[in-house]
Amino acid sequence: MKLLLLFVALVLLTAQTAFADLTRLSENVYSYVGEKDASPSHSFAANAGIVIGRDGVLVVDTLISAREGQRFLADIRKITKKPIKYVVNTHTHLDHAFGNCVFAELGATVISHSADKELLAKVGEGILKNADNFGLKPEDMAGTTIVLPSVYFSDRLTIDLGGETVELIRVAPSHTEGSVVVWLPQEKILFSGDILFTDFHPFMADGDLAGWGKTI
Ligand SMILES: [Zn+2]
Repeated sequence: MKLLLLFVALVLLTAQTAFADLTRLSENVYSYVGEKDASPSHSFAANAGIVIGRDGVLVVDTLISAREGQRFLADIRKITKKPIKYVVNTHTHLDHAFGNCVFAELGATVISHSADKELLAKVGEGILKNADNFGLKPEDMAGTTIVLPSVYFSDRLTIDLGGETVELIRVAPSHTEGSVVVWLPQEKILFSGDILFTDFHPFMADGDLAGWGKTI
């Protein structure tokens, strides 16, 4: 009996480890849920995701570094070989936008709210240079470059991905001045970025508490 229980426990453990891959939410939508290990080199356990349309793939957030972006990309490629057309930064904090370089190199258009594009332009290079302040080692950030969004908007932006409508909606000021959510009206799926935290205290230094409460 004990042996059987051990076997069941091992199977469960193996199954849990496999969840590092993308999780299917609907036919064409997957989440990439942060690891339980919330260390800086694991993107502080930030979540990401993808939407697959007829014409290509839209990536929601790119994690903290080129290395983390590559990990994400390798897991995306297990699901689809379609071109990665768009990257949306729900906001431009390092754990959501410093992997942009991996996807921009593939020709993806990077999109964010204009205020968060400005935030990244202002502080991105400095944060990368002083990444040790965030508990990151030089090897964690090897190959990482700052890629600013080339498309930005003020209120709403709708993307037709070919059979998949993706709505980007500003819900700010909240976590940042230009935080956006990614809403899929067909599936009723919402990528909330850092508007909503579970199990962690939110990072609030760029936040607006009154606006955040209203947003939620
Ligand atoms: Zn954030």
